[in-house]
Amino acid sequence: MFTHIPIKADHIIGIKAEGVLTDADYKKFLPELEQSINNQGPVSAYVDMVDFEGWEAKAAWDDLKFGIAHDLDFDRIAVVGDSKWQQWMIKVSNIFFAADMRYFSAADQQQALDWLQEKQPENAAAEEEITISAYTHILLATDFSPHAELAGLRAMEMAATYQAGLSIVHVLNNQILFDEFAEPAIIDQVSLYRELEVSSQQMLEKLAARLEVDDTVGVHLLTGNPGSEIVNFAAEQKVDLILVGSHGRHGLERVLGSVAAGLVRKADCDVLTVHL
Ligand code: AMP
Repeated sequence: MFTHIPIKADHIIGIKAEGVLTDADYKKFLPELEQSINNQGPVSAYVDMVDFEGWEAKAAWDDLKFGIAHDLDFDRIAVVGDSKWQQWMIKVSNIFFAADMRYFSAADQQQALDWLQEKQPENAAAEEEITISAYTHILLATDFSPHAELAGLRAMEMAATYQAGLSIVHVLNNQILFDEFAEPAIIDQVSLYRELEVSSQQMLEKLAARLEVDDTVGVHLLTGNPGSEIVNFAAEQKVDLILVGSHGRHGLERVLGSVAAGLVRKADCDVLTVHL
């Protein structure tokens, strides 16, 4: 049978399960429990299973159905028991249910109550006042591909909407040029690099004119690994939004291009990947 355990704390329901639980036990107890949840909103539960011996078949089904229906109504569930199988059951339940369940041995009852009363990180965050401020510095990272071109138009539109500054960056990827297998007798890497630098700068300036970006302050040509250069640049320049094309010059074989995916993972600010 089930009995209530009085607990002097808000949003914590105390339940003792004893003996072999039957369908009749659930029929009597679940409506009361549902009523408490409806009155209080999401609750935590302290469940004493020290004298629990198991379920009749139908009662086990009642238990599972209730668990599925009310999965999101429980924050934490502390089960106090005295057997390995109860401990194992909690591990399994944790896989299937969203509520955070933990097993405590009978000697650790106080620890169980303390855990239930701990301020949970998500609740703590909800209590802080979260403010969302408008973007102030938007960065377009371009490889001059059609995708990046579209990201540029979106960047211009967003900069106007947010009254934000707009910068453009292109990274000359010199890793391949100065790869250990490059053959200096066939290509003059330094001259080729200079050529690329000049043409990239020209393309950047043309793009800046189209997007109405001041090319004396808002245009940046960097050298190195595109992903890390863009992440570092964005952090240094206090960029709060990076726009990139979802793909670049190297085709569509991935769901998201590798530079784009790297930025989404590593940048400290928002990243918007623009699709053609
Ligand atoms: P990718 O991840 O290489 O397919 O490229 C996706 C997007 O990342 C492109 O559309 C560009 O917006 C940006 N991007 C790629 N390479 C560079 C680069 N070298 N410099 C700046 N942005 C780049």
